[in-house]
Amino acid sequence: MNYPDRFDVIVVGGGHAGTEACLAAARMGAKTLLLSHNIETLGQMSCNPAIGGIGKSHLVKEIDALGGAMALATDAGGIQFRILNARKGPAVRATRAQADRVLYKAAIRETLENQPNLWIFQQAVDDLIVESDEVRGVVTQMGLKFFANQVVLTAGTFLGGVIHIGMQNHSGGRAGDPPAQALSQRLREYPLRVDRLKTGTPPRIDAKSVDYSELQEQWGDEPRPVMSVRGNRQMQPKQVCCWITHTNEQTHEIIRSGLDRSPMYSGVIEGVGPRYCPSIEDKIHRFADKPSHQIFIEPEGLTTHELYPNGISTSLPFDVQMNLVRSIKGFENAHIMRPGYAIEYDYFNPQDLKYSLETKVIGGLYFAGQINGTTGYEEAGAQGLLAGLNAARRSRELEAWCPRRDQAYLGVLVDDLITLGTSEPYRMFTSRAEYRLLLREDNADERLTQLGFEMGLVGEAQWQSYCEKREAVDRERARLKDTWVQAGTDEADKLQGKVKSPLTREYSLFDLLKRPELKYIDIASLKGDVNVSEAVAEQIEIDAKYSGYISRQQEEIDRLRAYENTRFPEAFDFNAVDGLSNEVKQKLSDARPETLARAQRIPGVTPAAVSLLLVYMKKRG
Ligand code: FAD
Repeated sequence: MNYPDRFDVIVVGGGHAGTEACLAAARMGAKTLLLSHNIETLGQMSCNPAIGGIGKSHLVKEIDALGGAMALATDAGGIQFRILNARKGPAVRATRAQADRVLYKAAIRETLENQPNLWIFQQAVDDLIVESDEVRGVVTQMGLKFFANQVVLTAGTFLGGVIHIGMQNHSGGRAGDPPAQALSQRLREYPLRVDRLKTGTPPRIDAKSVDYSELQEQWGDEPRPVMSVRGNRQMQPKQVCCWITHTNEQTHEIIRSGLDRSPMYSGVIEGVGPRYCPSIEDKIHRFADKPSHQIFIEPEGLTTHELYPNGISTSLPFDVQMNLVRSIKGFENAHIMRPGYAIEYDYFNPQDLKYSLETKVIGGLYFAGQINGTTGYEEAGAQGLLAGLNAARRSRELEAWCPRRDQAYLGVLVDDLITLGTSEPYRMFTSRAEYRLLLREDNADERLTQLGFEMGLVGEAQWQSYCEKREAVDRERARLKDTWVQAGTDEADKLQGKVKSPLTREYSLFDLLKRPELKYIDIASLKGDVNVSEAVAEQIEIDAKYSGYISRQQEEIDRLRAYENTRFPEAFDFNAVDGLSNEVKQKLSDARPETLARAQRIPGVTPAAVSLLLVYMKKRG
């Protein structure tokens, strides 16, 4: 049967990529359908219910700056908020929130159900409708056909998913959910490069069975951070404590004795796991000389006793899991509520995607999230937003959009994926961005909100409040630049004890703020009353202290902009460029970079090769 209505965009999968994708497309005015296995699992966190962290919160705030849902849902569900790297520079500072998984999911569901232009339907998608290399719709498990010329696939870990606990394994998309087998088979018929990855999760512990007496408490930060520019502290629920414990020699011995029944070490699992989130058996093996590993014990919510022991992800047999857990301080009598497991799944080589996240081989088919080889909710959400946005733009015959590497972590993420591909689960870090002083989490709105508003992604209320903030920053910056403090006056005396060297002449308040030892609050009210928000004060302080470095990065970006703007035509023949080595020709032909800047980032493409390409493109005009 054919479903009677046509859609502009169909999104398959209601995880983190899928929800941001369908919301973005619908915000842009596209008639959008979200199809997912189970409405109850929309926005479900498969692993730890935590959002943000280093590099990741930057993505969350960029999604937020473009009108997305993740940050606001984190404020609605966050039960502990912290600033990581608080003592380091602003480029690497990151917000992290532990969330109540039920509250988070409810916030996402409410956003989805109240989004105009968005329809939701519960059903597995088993097949794509493709005509002459163009997608035309999807077919569900019960044979129902939905039609749209743009389809965004966000199937997460579900394609050909196999769950492993010890030497036992079974098909599954994640614990308790079915895999997507039919769709996995169908996708393998297209000329898309597919491979296997794996990820894992720890056993969950019943809080009632934990002895907290010797565990180290860890509370959230005060003043409490807020994740969304549209959020506030009042909307955040009750805050809770987390704890810290450690593995010990006995734990490690138990793990070593179980390795012969580990699916990873006996060769049953072939997929590569996440380097930066390894299983405990991986850690014991790789860091054999470390006597102990830290475990963060994190509550899964306010209405459950389930605890997430962050740091002991494992797929060892259940009897080994049981023993290793009980060898840990505080867990001596622990009851495991859910066993840990690993999952292997299909992912597609992201080098087969355009920067819009549309596949190169099937027009109108977009991939976003874990199926592109990434790991993490934030990486998935960011890609989802981009794919949804571009699917909506394509439906209106508008050119695709993707931020540049100097504009957003989202630009870094997509550029890394499509230029370099990935052979292991890719997660974001600040170290992946060469312009990280410009791409701070505090200025995501400055970088993206205007663009988002112009594209139709950002609503009127968010735009207005962004404009008010921008005006307040400009006003206060101007005031600080125009307000002077003379050495030897009362105002200068107030700084005694705070400044490293005494004032010897007249300084503007803005110049004083450039001194590392002075903070905005130290100088703001030296002359006159001020009343600006924390966000405005933060912007001004960073601006004053880092403006020299920021403008140097900006100059470098401007110099390289010519490379970004040099685009290769769609069917460009790299073999026709005289002087390139066969190796470089091969690398370029395989990766098919869209711009000279992307070509430059392919390993093995030398500066000399880039010059040859530049000369060739200039000659072509
Ligand atoms: P998912 O969140 O997996 O969502 C996929 C959605 O698509 C689901 O709603 C599913 O029902 C739906 N779907 C799939 N196929 C179909 C179909 N054919 N028809 C209809 N609907 C379909 N990330 C980390 O950063 N660190 C970790 O330690 C970590 N550990 C993990 C451990 C496990 C066991 C799992 C399963 C995941 C783990 N992750 C981890 C990954 C994290 O969960 C994902 O990165 C993130 O959820 C990806 O989002 P997504 O939207 O791409 O996919």
